[in-house]
Amino acid sequence: MSTRSLPDAARVDDLDLDSLPPGIVHRLLIGLVDDQVGGRIRVPVLVARGERPGPVVGLTAALHGNELNGIPVIHRLFEGLDVANLRGTVAAVVVANVPGFKRRQRTYMDGLDLNHHFPGKKAGNGGQAYAWNLVHRVIDRFDLLIDLHTASVGRVNCLYVRADLTDARTADMAWRIRPDIVLHNPANDKTLRGTSMGRGIPAITVEIGNPQRFHPEYIRHAVTGIRRVLAAHDIVPKRKPGEGRPPIICKSSKWMYTDRGGLLEVLPGTTDRVEKGEVVARMRDIFGDPIIEYKAPFDGVVIGHSVDPVAESGARILHLGALADGDDQRLLNWPHEIPAQAPELEPRPLWETP
Ligand SMILES: [Zn+2]
Repeated sequence: MSTRSLPDAARVDDLDLDSLPPGIVHRLLIGLVDDQVGGRIRVPVLVARGERPGPVVGLTAALHGNELNGIPVIHRLFEGLDVANLRGTVAAVVVANVPGFKRRQRTYMDGLDLNHHFPGKKAGNGGQAYAWNLVHRVIDRFDLLIDLHTASVGRVNCLYVRADLTDARTADMAWRIRPDIVLHNPANDKTLRGTSMGRGIPAITVEIGNPQRFHPEYIRHAVTGIRRVLAAHDIVPKRKPGEGRPPIICKSSKWMYTDRGGLLEVLPGTTDRVEKGEVVARMRDIFGDPIIEYKAPFDGVVIGHSVDPVAESGARILHLGALADGDDQRLLNWPHEIPAQAPELEPRPLWETP
């Protein structure tokens, strides 16, 4: 962190960028709602304001309170920012769902999945009011948004980006992250990404590994990708960013679910390619007898999958991406040629430290 950072976090009730002197990194605790004893529930926000005017790039982490990899992504990004040479502003909500983070859980304290209830309601219930205040006090100040997530408990993801690839602005951001996979996914209105898009703030979701842990290799790649986005908008000086391997582009995806209960074994790993009809999971009953095999419904690539063997009917098996090809190029605003044959990816080493 810059030695010119303010030593103490300022307690405010709004992300008022004009009130923040440029040239330094600010630590803010922005009050959104009250708790039961009248204390303010505050989100921690880092703001680097450059001397020169420019766009405001917003980042959000831990909107699902147990999805932590975005937090060190923000820390490392800010460690590397030279605020004296910054154009515009980088503003990062380090923990977007503070009550969920404190409980090590995905949801808000009332059990609401915030990311299904944006833009919230001003006079709504607990989670709805929290979401409304997050949007109106913080998110609305952004010109672009990168929302950092991970897989849910019991599942693993590769490093992948969800973005509306018919929108040239979000397609460009997705490309510059250089994840393993970019999934074309028009945003649902109720998500933070969809709400932001609807409010004129181009937004992408970056899914970074697994919940409730730090995943160094993916964190490092995500930081590098976000720096490429900042450089593309002239917020940080263009350096030799390193090309990074091109991602696999998926035009759509489908979650496979079990229709029986038992003990589930998923066979392929993330970023593995599978063919239609290939057996991708097997289930045994509680006595150990095989009861069913699950087959891939189409050729595709594994974006994420379950690692929890305990499965009831309707348990998630595998998130299968359908590969985009040249025909899809016309429909999407993907800024680069989509190869006829998607590349095979070497899996990233999961636990290797950078
Ligand atoms: Zn999430």
